[in-house]
Amino acid sequence: RRHAAPQRVTVLGATGSIGTNTLDVVARHPGRFEVFALTGAQRVQELAALCARWQPRFAVMPDESAAARLRTLGREQGWRTEVLSGAQALSDVAAHPAVDIVMGAIVGAAGLAPCLAAAKAGKRLLLANKEALVVGGGLFMSAVHEGGATLLPIDSEHSAIFQCLPEDPSSWPSRIDHIVLTASGGPFRQRDPSTFADITPEQACAHPNWVMGRKISVDSATMMNKALEVIEARWLFGLAPEQIRVVLHPQSIIHSMVVCRDRSVLAQLGTPDMRVPIAYGLSWPERIESGAEMLDFLTLKALTFEEADAARYPGLQLAWETLRGPAGSTCVLNAANEVAVEAFLQRRIRFDQIHQVNTGALAAGLIEAGMSESVDGLLALDARVRRHAGEQVAALAR
Ligand code: NAD
Ligand code: MG
Repeated sequence: RRHAAPQRVTVLGATGSIGTNTLDVVARHPGRFEVFALTGAQRVQELAALCARWQPRFAVMPDESAAARLRTLGREQGWRTEVLSGAQALSDVAAHPAVDIVMGAIVGAAGLAPCLAAAKAGKRLLLANKEALVVGGGLFMSAVHEGGATLLPIDSEHSAIFQCLPEDPSSWPSRIDHIVLTASGGPFRQRDPSTFADITPEQACAHPNWVMGRKISVDSATMMNKALEVIEARWLFGLAPEQIRVVLHPQSIIHSMVVCRDRSVLAQLGTPDMRVPIAYGLSWPERIESGAEMLDFLTLKALTFEEADAARYPGLQLAWETLRGPAGSTCVLNAANEVAVEAFLQRRIRFDQIHQVNTGALAAGLIEAGMSESVDGLLALDARVRRHAGEQVAALAR
């Protein structure tokens, strides 16, 4: 291993929570990995610091004015990374022939195009960006197969399932009865639902077990995150909607389970630390040091399980509803939810109104009859839903 050439890594969303954890794991293995490109949307200072530290060949920011500020910092700080801007540049550094591994850690549907580009280019694609599969799972999986990409799940639940399954995916359907995704229940598992209208963005972002970006933190509080993960699992593991179940497990030690045809149950356990699935994605089928704490069984008080209460988490069931609905339904759910969560974070709508915006969009008949699952079709639908949800937000905020 020590004698092999370093594997070149592009980190899409390098300034975020998953991006930072990815670079933390990479830093533990000098000589094994080399950073080829880093991307970020806003935090120019942070991205500059990463360029100084990692000296990548490229840095990309979607917005040209942000990229110009980054170039200025590069001149001042004396690093030589080439700074590009625009959506096409994100896809270019994901599909570049010199790249071996792409970490897809952009949040939201904005990650779809660059992750698709990596898939089509046959990369080893580490997928944290669950929204890409929710927007266009069928399309995405075809791109992975046609491009000959290796798709490795980074979401902790999906990494757990993947770790419980043999390497050859063709054997999965015959061995899986169903899977059980565990959910912590988020910060409001025990809060009186009659007070949900008073929830602030700060309270929603204070997750009991994980430190994450703001969007996924709010999704965890509503359990829309688990709904997105049910949809993600459907595509990653080729399951029918009824083969995916959810159970609350407040300690977040069991990261998910596979229930086999013979009723044997396989689970993956560990301390809640995203560096474990990231390290596995980077090294699969080998295993490397991740930096995570050892799980100490003697200090674990108990592993407990509860049913996810549909009244407390009304968004969860939308996963199965949209999976069974017409093509495009999960794209509608994702786009509405992105708009609603952003509006909640900006204090324009209440926490409990996120679900209202989502169900409103699903009921609005925004999917054209006989819609085909093409990138253009899905992105046009995504844009229609964002307009509709934006109007709903404006009406609620009035
Ligand atoms: P984050 O908000 O911390 O980081 C998001 C990254 O994406 C940042 O680098 C940001 O600059 C970039 N970005 C945002 N909007 C963009 C746009 N329009 N175009 C290009 N880049 C953009 O989010 P995160 O917590 O790191 O999550 C990233 C993804 O990983 C999400 O899809 C999330 O659901 C998934 N995920 C995260 C965790 C976690 O522990 N944080 C766990 C499982 C899955
Ligand atoms: Mg998860």
